[in-house]
This record gives sequence, C-alpha cells and structure tokens, in this order.
Amino acid sequence: MATIFTKIVNGEIPCYKIAEDDRFFAFLDINPMTKGHTLVIPKTEKDYIFDLDEATYSALMLFAKKVAHAIEKAIPCKRIGVAVIGLEVPHAHVHLIPINQESDMNFKNPKLKLSVEEMNEIAEHIRQKIG
Ligand code: 5GP
Repeated sequence: MATIFTKIVNGEIPCYKIAEDDRFFAFLDINPMTKGHTLVIPKTEKDYIFDLDEATYSALMLFAKKVAHAIEKAIPCKRIGVAVIGLEVPHAHVHLIPINQESDMNFKNPKLKLSVEEMNEIAEHIRQKIG
C-alpha cells in the first residue's frame, strides 16, 4: 500500500508544496515545529533513509540543501536545523526546521497551530526564493 507521502506526491492527499523535480519532493510539515518546517522526500518509497542507494541519498541531500537555502531566505531564523526521525511515517524524509535556538529542534515541543492561510503564505514565500 502507498505511504501517505506517496499519496501526497501523487496529489491524492493535499499538501503545501515547496518544490519538486523528477526524483524528489518538498512540502510543509502539517504539524510544524516552527514556521517553515519542511519535509524533503525521495519519490521512491524506502522506509529507512540509510537504506537509500548512494546516488539517491546524495541527491536527496543536495535537493534538501537547495530547499534549505530558500527557507532561510524566506523565514527569519539563525539556521536551518536538519533532522531525520522516521518513526511515524515509513517513507524516508528529511526535516528542515528554521531555528533560533537549540530547543527549537526538540520534537517534544508543542507543534504550531497555523491556519490554512498562514501555511499557504509560508509555502508561497519559500517557493519564491527557490532558484
Ligand atoms: P517522523 O516519521 O519523522 O517521526 O514524523 C513524520 C512527520 O510527518 C511529522 O512531523 C508529521 O507532522 C508529518 N506528517 C505526518 N503526516 C503528514 C501529512 O499527511 N502531511 C504532512 N504535510 N505532514 C505529515
């Protein structure tokens, strides 16, 4: 059965899309830790990121780098934190999280509650910064 992220890639489940190419896809996390929290995934379904073949893993990280630079231009922050957890959704994904302090990376923090309008605005803002 397709993962929830494959359904997002296929447009069966809506998302706030940030970027896409033939192999990778980036979209806002629905439960953001901070404004601009983005997930970057390979379109191929592989649960564990370190099971990706080397070429796909490297290209995923390069794609994430491009997205991270766009996020930092769009969202005021000190850094883009990077995390891989993968305990909830069995489809490899990289979290890109705008941070100002170390505690912004604590996944136990309460998630932001943002309106559809705010999420659309953030996504649009980041999309505009993608070169
Ligand atoms: P992890 O697998 O890394 O522990 O967590 C999965 C992440 O995916 C969580 O941050 C969660 O908010 C996000 N997530 C789960 N389901 C959806 C969804 O349907 N849409 C989006 N945009 N994010 C999701």
